[in-house]
This record gives sequence, structure tokens and C-alpha cells, in this order.
Amino acid sequence: MKIHEYQAKQILAKAGVAVPRGIVAESTEAVADAFAALGGKHAVVKAQIHAGGRGKGTVKGNASQHGVQVVHSTDEAVLVAGNLLGQTLVTVQTGAEGQVVRRVLIEDVCEIAREIYLGIVVDRSSGPVLLASSQGGMEIEQIAAESPERIFREPFRPDIGLHGFQIRKLARKLGLSGTAARSAATFFTRLADVFVNYDCSLVEINPLVLTAHGELLALDAKMNFDDNSLFRHPDVLQLRDLAEEQPAEVHAADAGLSYVKLDGNIGCLVNGAGLAMSTMDLIQYHGGQPANFLDVGGGANVHQVIEAFRILLDDRNVRAVLVNIFGGIMHCTTIAEAILAAYKSVGFNVPLIVRLEGTEVQQGREILAQSRLDIITADDLTDAAKKVVAAAAA
Ligand code: ADP
Ligand code: MG
Repeated sequence: MKIHEYQAKQILAKAGVAVPRGIVAESTEAVADAFAALGGKHAVVKAQIHAGGRGKGTVKGNASQHGVQVVHSTDEAVLVAGNLLGQTLVTVQTGAEGQVVRRVLIEDVCEIAREIYLGIVVDRSSGPVLLASSQGGMEIEQIAAESPERIFREPFRPDIGLHGFQIRKLARKLGLSGTAARSAATFFTRLADVFVNYDCSLVEINPLVLTAHGELLALDAKMNFDDNSLFRHPDVLQLRDLAEEQPAEVHAADAGLSYVKLDGNIGCLVNGAGLAMSTMDLIQYHGGQPANFLDVGGGANVHQVIEAFRILLDDRNVRAVLVNIFGGIMHCTTIAEAILAAYKSVGFNVPLIVRLEGTEVQQGREILAQSRLDIITADDLTDAAKKVVAAAAA
């Protein structure tokens, strides 16, 4: 789960991590009040969306308006906020369709001496890792590709946190000394604590700035949480902003399905993430483009399969659907009955290709054959992929 920058900064501030003063606003009136509350001289107006790259991103239909801008008067603050609120911001991370801005963060302007990159991610082979680079403000992916030696890594154990020597080593490599090094010790330690305490999958401070006074401050903050841990963080769940998420993905999550929308035109309904990945590969191999990743899970029931069809067929790009099931825990009879039930309640408006294998496969195929539904059956994976690619192209 993702949250907005202003929400992440509230969590950080609560944990004693230094962030600029800021007030979130949803209307231009609230922006004027916020600007006054921050002193009325200058401020930064920052669009709040679940995507980065806002500083360089631009508003659709108004290319001169970026997602982050310094303003020097109430009028300017209101003008810029008005240009952002309700408009679509396109950044490298939103894709061409962009994301609607519903809130802006009005923040103190920080005097930046240096910008540093700081992130904490999970390395699956060891555990949490703190990543830092003196190339702050840039895309970390670009630094990783062009000069990986400029990214410093310090793995730490969740139950111990960062050691003092690791923090000193990092501070030295980042060229921080004196007040800045002391500030770094507090900052890094507390950030690692936040990462662990909140079961984060990512915390990214880009840029972390060294101010003119030698203090470290989180100028930007991105926080993602491990969905599997949300049950023990009701406070975090309250921060969820469904308006920022794909409606179909929200619908799927409610039904207990793993669904990711993609750009192609072949809907895939598969059980098991591995089979779902190979199904997508095979479709591409045979010249098609999957419209989604959808894993109904090992033990899906009829209700879930109906919801899965609903989601697939709601996607206007979908020209054909491939059902690829390897019955293990789930019997092929269950999926066959679910297909019939889905036909009754959703209706199929595109060709349906079905490949069944595994437990009770014969009975499952018979159910489908007797139904007289217009289904194209496939004998194996390759056959299924070829047939669905042909059907989508027809
Ligand atoms: P994004 O990563 O989405 O582009 P950031 O929050 O990193 O958004 O802001 C982009 C840039 O804007 C920063 O690298 C920084 O140079 C500038 N900036 C952001 N917030 C402030 C602030 N409070 N004071 C001064 N400059 C800021
Ligand atoms: Mg940033």
C-alpha cells in the first residue's frame, strides 16, 4: 500500500525524523490560509499524488505548470494551487494518462546546501538495506545504471537496527561531518526504526537535504507498506486513498484476487502466480499482449471466479479471454462450474479459450462440453496461447 508524501511526513515527524513544516490543502481557500499560517512570505506548493517525478512533471494541457513550485505571495500560491487542484499531472512515474491532483502540500521553503538520496528497501537475500548516494534529487535507477559505485549499501537486522559504525561509515562516504554527521546519526537511526515498526516495503527520502545550517531534513518522503502486515496497523490503513488506486485492482483485492492491469487485449484468468507469469510469457511469445495479470489463487471458489470474469470483461481493451487452470487444490469441476455461473451472471462478450489440466479434468471438460456454451477448448499451453492470440486478432 502506498500513501501520500504529506502522510509519510506526518509519520516521520511523529517518529522524530526532521521534515519541513507543511500544511495539506484541498481548496484554494485552504491554500491561502496555509500560506498565511506558514508566515505569508514564501512557500512551496507540492501536488500530492501516489507517484514521484512531480518536480519535473507537468499538468496536462498546461505544460508550463510543474507539480512542485516555489511561490512568493498568497496570490501566487492560490494561482499555482488552482492550476494543480482537479487537474491531471503527468510524470515519468504516472504514465501518459497521468494522475488527478486532489490535494496540495504547502510547505516551508528550505535552503538547500546539498541533496542526498536515502532509501530503505528489503533485499530478499538478507533483509532491510539502507541505500544512500550523494547524487540526491536524481532518479536512483539512473544512478544505479550509470554509476552503481556511487550507491552505498548498509544492510541491517530488523531487531537490531543500524550499528553506530555503519552510520559513521555512511556519513563519511556522504561527506557529512560535524553537526551534519550528528544529524545523520539521529536521522538514519530513526528512519530505520520507522521502516521496521511500520512494516514498510520501501521508505525513500529523495532528496534528503543538508540545510544551510548543517541539519538534515526529509524534503520528500515516499512510504510503501507490506500489504500482508496491514492488519496490525489500523492507523496506516486509515491513510489509504482509494482514489489513487486502479478501481479494478481495488475490486480484485476485495475479492481476494491478485490482479494487475496491463496494456494488452488478452484477458488472463489463471490459478497460481507462476502459471500466470508463464501464461503471459507464452501469449507474448505467440505475438499477443496480455491485458492483465490475474491469479485467482490455489483454492479459489465460484464467487471469486465470477468476480474475476467481471473484472476482466469490464476492461474495454479485452478482445479475448484465456482461462488457464492447473487443478491442484482447486478441482477442474469447480472452475468449469464457475465458468457456467459467470456466463449466467456476467455474460461473455468476447471469445473464451479454456485450458484445463489436473484434478478432475475429465469431469470438468464434460461439464463445459455439455453446457453448449461457445467455448474454445485447448489441449495444452501452446495450443491455448495460439488460439487466444488468433481470437484476439480476429
Ligand atoms: P518529486 O520527487 O516528486 O519530484 P520532490 O518532493 O522531490 O518531488 O520535489 C522536487 C524538487 O523540488 C526537490 O528535489 C527540491 O529541489 C524541490 N523542493 C521540494 N520541496 C522543497 C522545499 N520544501 N523547499 C525547497 N525546495 C523543495
Ligand atoms: Mg523526490
